[in-house]
Amino acid sequence: MSRKGRKWITETQEFQTTDDPYLPKKYPSGEAICPRCHAVFRDKRWLLDEEFYQEFKDSDLVPKFLCPGCRKAVDRYPMGYLYLSGPFFEEHKEEIMRVINNEYERARKNNPLQQIIAIYEEDGQTVVETTTENLAQRLGRAVYRAYKGDLTFKWSEGNKLVRVYWQR
Ligand SMILES: [Zn+2]
Repeated sequence: MSRKGRKWITETQEFQTTDDPYLPKKYPSGEAICPRCHAVFRDKRWLLDEEFYQEFKDSDLVPKFLCPGCRKAVDRYPMGYLYLSGPFFEEHKEEIMRVINNEYERARKNNPLQQIIAIYEEDGQTVVETTTENLAQRLGRAVYRAYKGDLTFKWSEGNKLVRVYWQR
Protein backbone atom coordinates (compact mmCIF):
# COMPACT_ATOMS: atom_id res chain seq x y z
CA MET A 1 0.00 0.00 0.00
CA SER A 2 1.48 3.34 -0.93
CA ARG A 3 1.87 5.93 1.78
CA LYS A 4 0.07 8.52 -0.23
CA GLY A 5 -2.93 6.27 -0.68
CA ARG A 6 -3.09 5.43 3.00
CA LYS A 7 -2.71 9.03 4.02
CA TRP A 8 -5.67 10.09 1.95
CA ILE A 9 -7.81 7.20 3.05
CA THR A 10 -7.33 8.04 6.71
CA GLU A 11 -7.09 11.80 6.64
CA THR A 12 -9.61 13.12 4.17
CA GLN A 13 -13.19 13.51 5.20
CA GLU A 14 -15.02 10.88 3.31
CA PHE A 15 -18.77 11.14 3.10
CA GLN A 16 -18.56 14.87 3.46
CA THR A 17 -22.06 16.06 2.75
CA THR A 18 -22.65 18.38 -0.15
CA ASP A 19 -25.72 20.46 -0.77
CA ASP A 20 -27.80 18.56 -3.26
CA PRO A 21 -30.14 20.89 -5.17
CA TYR A 22 -31.93 17.92 -6.70
CA LEU A 23 -33.24 16.51 -3.47
CA PRO A 24 -36.73 17.87 -2.90
CA LYS A 25 -37.59 19.72 0.27
CA LYS A 26 -40.93 17.97 0.30
CA TYR A 27 -41.60 14.39 -0.64
CA PRO A 28 -44.75 13.14 -2.30
CA SER A 29 -46.98 10.95 -0.22
CA GLY A 30 -47.52 7.39 -1.36
CA GLU A 31 -45.59 5.56 -4.02
CA ALA A 32 -44.16 6.66 -7.36
CA ILE A 33 -42.14 5.20 -10.19
CA CYS A 34 -39.20 6.55 -12.18
CA PRO A 35 -39.79 5.60 -15.81
CA ARG A 36 -36.12 6.00 -16.73
CA CYS A 37 -34.30 3.81 -14.19
CA HIS A 38 -37.28 1.85 -12.81
CA ALA A 39 -36.63 3.05 -9.25
CA VAL A 40 -39.63 3.00 -6.92
CA PHE A 41 -40.39 5.73 -4.42
CA ARG A 42 -41.73 4.36 -1.15
CA ASP A 43 -41.56 5.41 2.50
CA LYS A 44 -39.87 8.67 1.52
CA ARG A 45 -36.98 7.01 -0.28
CA TRP A 46 -36.11 5.63 -3.69
CA LEU A 47 -35.28 1.95 -3.96
CA LEU A 48 -35.17 -0.83 -6.52
CA ASP A 49 -38.22 -3.05 -6.76
CA GLU A 50 -38.44 -4.37 -10.29
CA GLU A 51 -41.50 -6.49 -9.51
CA PHE A 52 -43.44 -3.45 -8.34
CA TYR A 53 -42.22 -1.47 -11.33
CA GLN A 54 -43.40 -4.12 -13.78
CA GLU A 55 -46.76 -4.39 -12.06
CA PHE A 56 -47.53 -0.68 -12.03
CA LYS A 57 -45.54 0.81 -14.93
CA ASP A 58 -48.63 0.94 -17.16
CA SER A 59 -51.09 1.80 -14.43
CA ASP A 60 -52.53 5.19 -13.54
CA LEU A 61 -52.59 4.23 -9.88
CA VAL A 62 -48.95 5.12 -9.32
CA PRO A 63 -47.56 8.50 -10.42
CA LYS A 64 -44.49 8.47 -12.65
CA PHE A 65 -41.76 11.04 -12.58
CA LEU A 66 -37.99 11.14 -12.88
CA CYS A 67 -36.09 10.38 -9.69
CA PRO A 68 -33.45 12.92 -8.60
CA GLY A 69 -30.71 10.62 -9.92
CA CYS A 70 -32.20 10.53 -13.40
CA ARG A 71 -32.87 14.25 -13.38
CA LYS A 72 -29.17 14.84 -12.73
CA ALA A 73 -28.23 12.35 -15.43
CA VAL A 74 -30.57 13.97 -17.95
CA ASP A 75 -29.37 17.47 -17.02
CA ARG A 76 -25.77 16.22 -16.96
CA TYR A 77 -25.25 17.51 -13.44
CA PRO A 78 -22.44 15.40 -11.91
CA MET A 79 -21.62 15.76 -8.22
CA GLY A 80 -18.68 13.40 -8.44
CA TYR A 81 -15.86 12.73 -10.87
CA LEU A 82 -13.53 9.76 -10.80
CA TYR A 83 -10.32 10.09 -12.82
CA LEU A 84 -8.40 6.92 -13.61
CA SER A 85 -4.92 7.00 -15.08
CA GLY A 86 -1.45 5.53 -15.19
CA PRO A 87 0.42 2.79 -17.04
CA PHE A 88 -1.00 0.03 -14.81
CA PHE A 89 -4.50 1.32 -15.47
CA GLU A 90 -3.93 1.38 -19.22
CA GLU A 91 -2.70 -2.20 -19.09
CA HIS A 92 -5.60 -3.49 -16.99
CA LYS A 93 -8.33 -1.13 -18.08
CA GLU A 94 -10.89 -3.77 -18.97
CA GLU A 95 -10.51 -5.57 -15.66
CA ILE A 96 -10.56 -2.34 -13.63
CA MET A 97 -13.68 -1.08 -15.40
CA ARG A 98 -15.32 -4.38 -14.50
CA VAL A 99 -14.52 -3.75 -10.81
CA ILE A 100 -16.13 -0.34 -11.21
CA ASN A 101 -19.22 -1.78 -12.84
CA ASN A 102 -19.65 -4.41 -10.15
CA GLU A 103 -19.32 -1.83 -7.41
CA TYR A 104 -21.80 0.37 -9.27
CA GLU A 105 -24.35 -2.46 -9.31
CA ARG A 106 -23.94 -2.92 -5.57
CA ALA A 107 -24.24 0.82 -4.93
CA ARG A 108 -27.41 1.07 -6.97
CA LYS A 109 -29.02 -1.69 -4.95
CA ASN A 110 -28.49 0.40 -1.84
CA ASN A 111 -29.53 3.65 -3.43
CA PRO A 112 -30.70 3.92 -7.04
CA LEU A 113 -30.14 7.69 -7.00
CA GLN A 114 -26.44 6.90 -7.28
CA GLN A 115 -25.83 6.70 -10.99
CA ILE A 116 -22.98 6.84 -13.44
CA ILE A 117 -23.82 9.65 -15.86
CA ALA A 118 -21.00 9.17 -18.35
CA ILE A 119 -17.66 7.48 -18.89
CA TYR A 120 -15.21 9.02 -21.35
CA GLU A 121 -11.56 9.63 -22.15
CA GLU A 122 -10.05 13.04 -21.54
CA ASP A 123 -6.40 14.14 -21.53
CA GLY A 124 -5.13 10.59 -21.24
CA GLN A 125 -7.43 9.76 -18.33
CA THR A 126 -10.66 7.85 -18.08
CA VAL A 127 -13.34 9.99 -16.45
CA VAL A 128 -16.41 8.61 -14.68
CA GLU A 129 -19.11 11.16 -13.86
CA THR A 130 -21.50 10.27 -11.04
CA THR A 131 -24.72 11.77 -9.70
CA THR A 132 -23.49 11.71 -6.11
CA GLU A 133 -20.20 12.42 -4.38
CA ASN A 134 -20.56 9.17 -2.47
CA LEU A 135 -20.63 7.07 -5.61
CA ALA A 136 -17.43 8.60 -7.01
CA GLN A 137 -15.72 7.96 -3.66
CA ARG A 138 -17.10 4.46 -3.43
CA LEU A 139 -15.92 3.53 -6.93
CA GLY A 140 -12.48 5.01 -6.24
CA ARG A 141 -12.21 3.05 -3.00
CA ALA A 142 -13.22 -0.18 -4.74
CA VAL A 143 -10.41 0.24 -7.29
CA TYR A 144 -7.98 1.14 -4.53
CA ARG A 145 -9.00 -1.91 -2.48
CA ALA A 146 -8.44 -4.17 -5.45
CA TYR A 147 -5.26 -2.65 -6.90
CA LYS A 148 -3.76 -0.23 -4.34
CA GLY A 149 -2.15 2.71 -6.14
CA ASP A 150 -2.76 6.35 -5.20
CA LEU A 151 -6.21 7.56 -4.25
CA THR A 152 -6.99 11.19 -3.54
CA PHE A 153 -10.21 13.09 -2.86
CA LYS A 154 -10.61 16.77 -3.63
CA TRP A 155 -13.68 18.78 -2.80
CA SER A 156 -14.62 21.86 -4.71
CA GLU A 157 -15.06 25.15 -2.99
CA GLY A 158 -18.39 25.13 -1.20
CA ASN A 159 -18.35 21.32 -1.32
CA LYS A 160 -20.51 21.23 -4.42
CA LEU A 161 -18.71 18.25 -5.85
CA VAL A 162 -15.86 15.84 -5.28
CA ARG A 163 -13.07 14.86 -7.62
CA VAL A 164 -11.54 11.46 -6.94
CA TYR A 165 -8.22 10.62 -8.52
CA TRP A 166 -6.88 7.10 -8.77
CA GLN A 167 -3.50 6.53 -10.33
CA ARG A 168 -1.28 3.57 -10.81
ZN1 LIG B 1 -34.59 7.29 -12.09
